[in-house]
Amino acid sequence: MNNEQTKIPQATAKRLPLYYRFLKNLHASGKLRVSSAELSEAVKVDSATIRRDFSYFGALGKKGYGYNVSYLLSFFRKTLDQDEITEVVLVGVGNLGTAFLNYNFTKNNNTKIVMAFDVDEAKVGTEVGGVPVYHLNELEERLHERITVAILTVPAHVAQPITDRLVQKGIKGILNFTPARLNVPESIRVHHIDLAIELQSLVYFLKNYPSE
Ligand code: ATP
Repeated sequence: MNNEQTKIPQATAKRLPLYYRFLKNLHASGKLRVSSAELSEAVKVDSATIRRDFSYFGALGKKGYGYNVSYLLSFFRKTLDQDEITEVVLVGVGNLGTAFLNYNFTKNNNTKIVMAFDVDEAKVGTEVGGVPVYHLNELEERLHERITVAILTVPAHVAQPITDRLVQKGIKGILNFTPARLNVPESIRVHHIDLAIELQSLVYFLKNYPSE
């Protein structure tokens, strides 16, 4: 993301990819304007929040007139650095890792998994979803400065030492799918997605806060 991003609150920045994907589809279908109510319905964010978010982008929609779709799209493209592909590394080609390698991220946003690492000799030397799988021993020699993001899908007990090596090699952001809580320097960003906890919490909410 570029410098303009620094003025945008983090909560707003997190919603940008959501807005971007929806607006891209709208634009493709030839729509020129969109109201905050339509957007709200599509992305499930309340329209007051959308209006506040959009005010940070300098996109002030007129009442009953809506927002200019191309303006917003070009703003998002610039802000999200959509013109540039972010190269990503994945560590741990198990069931979850394999699913990510087979999933074409580039379709919806400009990130691309360019290489993967594992320690299982049966997986090393193969390609999964067109991505080469190398031995973890080769991590330091294979990583290069264009790769700034890592996806961790290894067993929890090896997550921290692998994280330390990734950080040492200049990785700036980690998407952590392991249950491990990672210790990283302040300058490194970790997003933690624990699928088991998310599922458990969904079930808990369904049981304890059933909707009418
Ligand atoms: P599978 O069924 O293929 O073993 P899984 O997702 O059930 O997958 P996990 O035990 O979570 O299995 O391991 C995920 C992947 O991480 C496996 O491919 C495993 O070989 C790999 N792995 C284990 N230890 C390491 C390590 N130290 N470095 C890199 N990869 C590792």
